[in-house]
Amino acid sequence: MSSTSPTVVGRLAPSPTGRLHLGHARSFLLAWWSARAAGGRVLLRIEDLDQERAREQWTAAIVEDLTWLGLDWDGAVELQSEHLDTVDLALEQLVGAGRVYPCVCTRREVREAASAPHDEVPGQASIEPVYPGTCRGRFGTRAEAEAITGRQAVLRFLVEGAAGTARSQASIAGSTGPVGATAVDFHDELQGPQSIDLALHGGDFVVSRKGGLPAYQLAVVEADARAGVTEVLRGDDLLVSTARQLLLQRALGLPSPRWLHVPLVQDPEGERLAKRTGGLSLAELREAGLEPERVVAWVAASAGMSPGRRGTAAERIGDFDVDRLPREPVRLDPRAFG
Ligand code: GLU
Repeated sequence: MSSTSPTVVGRLAPSPTGRLHLGHARSFLLAWWSARAAGGRVLLRIEDLDQERAREQWTAAIVEDLTWLGLDWDGAVELQSEHLDTVDLALEQLVGAGRVYPCVCTRREVREAASAPHDEVPGQASIEPVYPGTCRGRFGTRAEAEAITGRQAVLRFLVEGAAGTARSQASIAGSTGPVGATAVDFHDELQGPQSIDLALHGGDFVVSRKGGLPAYQLAVVEADARAGVTEVLRGDDLLVSTARQLLLQRALGLPSPRWLHVPLVQDPEGERLAKRTGGLSLAELREAGLEPERVVAWVAASAGMSPGRRGTAAERIGDFDVDRLPREPVRLDPRAFG
């Protein structure tokens, strides 16, 4: 690596909420190839902050599945839960800068008070209820919010232009839609220029959950920055999250990585492969006697790499070419593994 080209650092960031399936295998293999083909490093970070769904047993299973697939990583496996202190420092920075505020609304209240759903924004992922800004400017600190209301509070990041800034005008006008919407613009190396209006996608988002655990958006931004991650290749279901993560990176003065969002793998009916999809988990395929090179070959073919060639993940690094990655969702024909 020459001194003028900084080392590429990629990462695999699975959540330990179930066994890996072929869709995960595809995104992780592509992320791994992309970094390794550039002579870069790859980190493995287990995103275990979702207390309701994350289980320790899945961490071991994921490591086993990735190893079977032929992937490796630099350094120890990182558990996000072991770095809460540094995420708290980032949160303090946001609190100090007045970028977040306490919110005591329940999910149900948010749903009921949310503006009418703005569905079908072309090319953008599923629409969540837009937080109407109810708690903006209502309380000083989180402790105060909790003392006054007797409820636990989350902290939300204030999205400039999303509902709430001009809430009074909106209600006078009888409007239920977002006011003064602002788009977050960024370039995705696969999907091209993106312009995502967070006022249509959830509005002010949670960065610290009830009880104080960091929410996904902040934890990811902090972990990627701490590890010096320079490229993020992941499923395009996270495009809207990328807009949120960019706002956090800007607010925290952190660099943004290169973004590559790959379309998700779909089942024959065109539905996204879910973790429960029977028969398509790497563990089941392995137990049925499948060789990992078959999975590697399928991912390679789906990524425009020479279909005739065989080999392990490592043996095929040189065939990877980001410019040949298709932009369309990949349909999985289960007979490919029959
Ligand atoms: N842990 C997330 C997931 O499994 C991915 C996070 C990311 O790539 O930023 O969906």
